[in-house]
Parts: sequence; C-alpha cells; structure tokens
Amino acid sequence: MRQTLVLNASFEPLSTVTSRRAVVLVLQDKAVVEQAHPRLRVRASAVDLPLPRVIRLCRYVRVPFRRQAPWSRRGVLVRDRHRCAYCGRRATTVDHVVPRSHGGGDTWLNTVASCAEDNHRKADRTPEQAGMRLLRAPFIPSPADVLLLGLGAAEGAELPPGLRERELPAA
Ligand SMILES: [Zn+2]
Repeated sequence: MRQTLVLNASFEPLSTVTSRRAVVLVLQDKAVVEQAHPRLRVRASAVDLPLPRVIRLCRYVRVPFRRQAPWSRRGVLVRDRHRCAYCGRRATTVDHVVPRSHGGGDTWLNTVASCAEDNHRKADRTPEQAGMRLLRAPFIPSPADVLLLGLGAAEGAELPPGLRERELPAA
C-alpha cells in the first residue's frame, strides 16, 4: 500500500500513514497537501485530488518524548484498525492473547482487537489452546503512530463512497 509522509505543522517529519488515511486527514481539514503524486489522483463523487505524497498537519501536535505509547484498550482497537486479529471482521473488544488468568498483562504485545464472537469463543485460553490463529502479530506502536491514529484518520474516518486511485495518462 502507498505511504504518505506526515509532517507536523512545524514541518518536522512525524510518521507515515497510508495514502488513504492521508486523504482522510486532508478531507477532514486536519492536514494540507505539501507534495502530491504527479500522476495519481484520488476520485470519488465530490472529491478529486492528487494523491498526497507528503501532507502537513494544520495544527502543531506535541509528540510526547517517551519510548513507548501508553497502553489503552482504545489504543489497541485503533492500532488494529478495529479489525479482529482472528477473523478480520470488525472488532469491538480487546482480547488478551495470554489470558489475564494465565498471567497475561495489559500490554501492547499481549493484546489484540477482537470481534465479540471470537473473544467469547477463545474465552480463558491461549490461541493454541483454543485452536485459533492470530492473523498478525501484535506490535508496539510508536507515540507518533498513536497520535496520528488518534487524530481520526483511523476508525470512523469513512472515505467518500467510490473513492479510488486513478492514474492519469502520461503527459
Ligand atoms: Zn473475529
């Protein structure tokens, strides 16, 4: 998937997001396009803009100087884009990979987004015990990642219907 560089309002590079998220941030007036792809545009009913390569946030955000973003349930859902780690469908709950009753903690590496059904099915077992497989490994997001996700470029940031990239014919 195409990546877009995100600059802070002060022009310092913060992180990268997928181009789709970059478009959402621009459409929500949270960022402006600093540099666009010369030949790719994104189009939908009421939208037609060049695919952003670099965007800059309209408001300066302070990135806390810390090695790790603080864990939170909401953060786990946002990190996993509200997709169930077991089936890929919409997730509304957070599952402890190693259950708390087995000593598993509230940490980034031990928690994943999960649909209510899979969370219930897995119950008080490890994925191995439950015969369930993680579609992807949990990871520790950087503070900048969490910050950008928190800006609304993740869950609920619906793209206009029919939005898609289109390559312009070579000039
Ligand atoms: Zn599921």
